[in-house]
Amino acid sequence: MGTIHLGCIADDFTGATDLANNLVRGGMRVVQTMGVPRGPLAADVDAVVIALKSRTIAAADAAAQSVQALHWLQAQGARQFYFKYCSTFDSTPAGNIGPVTDALMDALGTDFTIACPAFPENGRTVFKGYLFAGDVLLQESGMRSHPLTPMTDSNLVRVLQQQTARRVGLVDYSVVRRGADAIRQRMAQLRGEGVQMVIVDAMDNADLMALGLALADLPRVTAGSGVAIGLPQNYGVRPGQGASCLPSARGARAIVSGSCSVATNGQVADFRQRGGPAFAIDPLRLIEGADLVQEALAWAGPRLGAEPVLIYATAEPDAVRAVQAQVGAERAGGIVEAALSAIARGLVERGAGQLIVAGGETAGACVQALEVDRMRIGPQIAPGVPWCHAQSPFAAAQGVHLALKSGNFGSADFFTRAFALLQPPASP
Ligand code: ADP
Repeated sequence: MGTIHLGCIADDFTGATDLANNLVRGGMRVVQTMGVPRGPLAADVDAVVIALKSRTIAAADAAAQSVQALHWLQAQGARQFYFKYCSTFDSTPAGNIGPVTDALMDALGTDFTIACPAFPENGRTVFKGYLFAGDVLLQESGMRSHPLTPMTDSNLVRVLQQQTARRVGLVDYSVVRRGADAIRQRMAQLRGEGVQMVIVDAMDNADLMALGLALADLPRVTAGSGVAIGLPQNYGVRPGQGASCLPSARGARAIVSGSCSVATNGQVADFRQRGGPAFAIDPLRLIEGADLVQEALAWAGPRLGAEPVLIYATAEPDAVRAVQAQVGAERAGGIVEAALSAIARGLVERGAGQLIVAGGETAGACVQALEVDRMRIGPQIAPGVPWCHAQSPFAAAQGVHLALKSGNFGSADFFTRAFALLQPPASP
C-alpha cells in the first residue's frame, strides 16, 4: 500500500462525498471513511476524506474529533491536510470553523492557513471577502433563517474573526485575478504582518486553479469543496486517468428514497412515469405498527434483477405535514429512516448490488445499517453525487455500489441516468 498525499476532514457526511467527488474529478483516487478508522488504511489511494458529524456539536468536541482524525491521517503518510466545511460557511459566533481551524493549526504547528468556501459551479462566490449564494449576499439567502446556523453577516473576515483569536485577513480579487504567483506573494506579505488565516476571493474555476497552485506548499487548507478542484494538479495527476474506476457493477438495481425535497419528488414521479416498479411506504401505517419492512421486501424479492425497483416514503409537503402533525417531525423522521434503512439492508441481502439512496439523513441511516465504514469514490452522476463502492457484511463478496444523493441534487431522470452510467458497455 502506498502512502496518501492529501488527508481531509469533513464536518458532515454528504459534504465529505462532495469533496471526494471534486478530488476524483481532478484525477485523485479517493476513499471516504465514516468517522476515524480504527486500523490502518488497506487501500492504494491518493487521498482519504474522513466524514465526521461535527458541524453543530460543541466546539471543543468538534476540535477534539478533528485532531484525532488529523493524527490518523498523519499516520497514513498525508503531507497536506484539508478541513472541509459547508460552502455557506455554516457556523455560529461560537464555531465551529474557527475553533477547529485553531486546534488543527496548533496540532500541526503551523501559523498560516486559508479559509475559502467558494464553489462557483454551485453558485458560491466570494468577492472582497463577502460570500454570495447565487445572485444574493449570504445574509439575504435562505441561510439567514437556518435553524441551527443562521448566517446574518456575509463578510467572512468578520465572521471568522469572531471565532478565533488569530488575526484574519483577506486576499482579494485584485490579487487572485493576477494568478498563483500574486496570490503566493500576497499570502507571504500578510503572514509577515502577523495574519494567520486569510479569506480568499474566488469567482470561477480559473480562480480556484490559480489558488490551488499557490497552495502547493501550504500544509493546511480550510475550505468548502470547491478549492479541491485546484489541488490535484499539484500531485502530478490529471483528470481522465482512471481515478474514478470502480470494480464492475453486479447484482440487482434498487432505489430507496426518504427525501421529500422538490428534486426527489420529481425524480420519483419521473421513475414511475417511465413504468418503473415502485412500492410506497405510508408513514401513517408505520406509526400504527404495520410491518412495512417485510411487506416491501416481499414485494421487491421476486422483482429484483429484472429492472430497477423503487421503495419510497417520498411525499409532497402536505402529506409530510399531516404525518408530522401526528407524531412530530423528529419522531416521524426516525420511524421512516428506521424502516427504509432496514429495507436497504434487506434488499442488499437479497442480491441488490447497485443501490441508490435519496435523502441525506436517509443515506446516513442506510450506510449505518449496511455497516459500511469506508467507500471508494467513483464517477460523478450529478454535481456532488458520485457512484461509490463499499464492502458490507450484508452484501455479496464483490461488495455493493452506492449512490447517496442529498435531497435537492440531480435532474428529474437522475435514477435512470445513474444506473445507465454503471452498465458495462454493450458487447459488439
Ligand atoms: P433530504 O436530503 O431531502 O433533506 P433527508 O433524508 O435528509 O432528505 O430527510 C428527509 C426526512 O424526512 C427523513 O428523516 C425521512 O425519514 C423523513 N420522511 C421521509 N418521508 C416522509 C414522510 N412521508 N412523512 C414524514 N417524514 C418523512
